[in-house]
Formats: sequence, structure tokens, C-alpha cells
Amino acid sequence: MKPVIPTEKSPAGSVKETIEMNKNTAVVDFPTAQEATESIASHMRSVLAALGEDPHRDGLERTPERSEKALRFLTSGYNTDIHKLVNGALFEVKYDEMVIVKDIEFFSMCEHHLLPFFGKIHVAYLPGDRVIGLSKIPRIVDAFARRLQIQERLTQQVAECIQELVDPRGVGVICEARHFCMMMRGVEKQHSGAVTSAMLGAFRENKETRDEFLSLAAYRSTH
Ligand SMILES: [Zn+2]
Repeated sequence: MKPVIPTEKSPAGSVKETIEMNKNTAVVDFPTAQEATESIASHMRSVLAALGEDPHRDGLERTPERSEKALRFLTSGYNTDIHKLVNGALFEVKYDEMVIVKDIEFFSMCEHHLLPFFGKIHVAYLPGDRVIGLSKIPRIVDAFARRLQIQERLTQQVAECIQELVDPRGVGVICEARHFCMMMRGVEKQHSGAVTSAMLGAFRENKETRDEFLSLAAYRSTH
């Protein structure tokens, strides 16, 4: 995967839609854990058999259930209500310097291979009339990382989510990641990483703002 230069267009499934969708989930009846276990684990048993394994041998007997549980957790972001997560942690503050949260660890799942990709995300914004509780930013990252994703969309969604919630003068997000689908198969480049970024508002329009963010984000990464 090559580094991606931010484009004017948002990818499909923008945050606006996602937030709307999450609002709706509050009234949607989700399957209970038991129904869910039935639905994925039984398919996993077929997958194991298709691989030529005996799904009923000792080591694999409970694997479909464990695998389902792991998958449900790794995709639990679909059920995260962003507004509930933020829980009013938006504060009217007169602060006009850049707010930056660096080195947020994340783990996500590549939607093309269902293999993990993981790395760090740096988030910055220039407040307008309010700020968001700092601890909410890593949780927002998790909400979008715990889905079937591509790195570019994850980066964009985190940026758009902050923009939507905080209404700042601008948002910048940089994502550095390594992909198991590159490391374990195909090109097998163990140390290759991909960097993506999303710059909105002042971060897109003002080179000085963008450069300040880029140097602050790079600063601790090299330590
Ligand atoms: Zn992949």
C-alpha cells in the first residue's frame, strides 16, 4: 500500500452517516449473545473443515466459539454510539492553541483479507469555541478501528468525527500502520508501513498549521 495524499472527497460511509446509523441502533433489536454464537461459530466450523481440518479434534473443539467472540470484539465499533461515548465531555473553553494527542495505539481489521492492521494515530485540532475531553479521543479511535476497515477510511472517519463533534477550526489526523496482509503473505515486507493522513479546515488550508502538526507528531515518534 502506498502513502495516501488526502483528497477533497470523503470516502464512502462518512462519519455523518455512521453517527446517524449509530443513533438508529439504539432502537434496533440486536441479536442476543447466544443467537450470535450460533450464527458465526457454525460457519467457522465449516471453514475449518474446508481447510481440511477436523473441527472436532480437541484443540479445535471450541475454536469456532472463541473465534466468534474475538471477531465480535474486534468489530464492536459498529455498536458504539459515539454520542453516548462522548457523554457530554465537550467544554466551552477559550483556548486557541493546537490540541494534539499523539501515539494512540489502535488495532483494526483489514476488510480485504480479514487480517489485522495496527499502529498509531495522531490527532490534532484547533479549537473554536469548545474542546473535547482528551480521554475521549482514543475511544473515538477505537470506535472506528474496531470495524472492518481500510486505513484511509479509518483516518478520514476519525477526522470527520472530531470535526462533527467539536466543530473546531480544523482537524488533522495521521495514521501509521503495519498490515498483516502485507507482512504474512503477498509481498512479505516485514517492516513496511503505510502512512495516511486527513486534514480538514485550517489543517488543509494553512501550511503553517499543517507543518506545526507534522513536526509535533513526528517529534515523539523518533524518541
Ligand atoms: Zn489486507
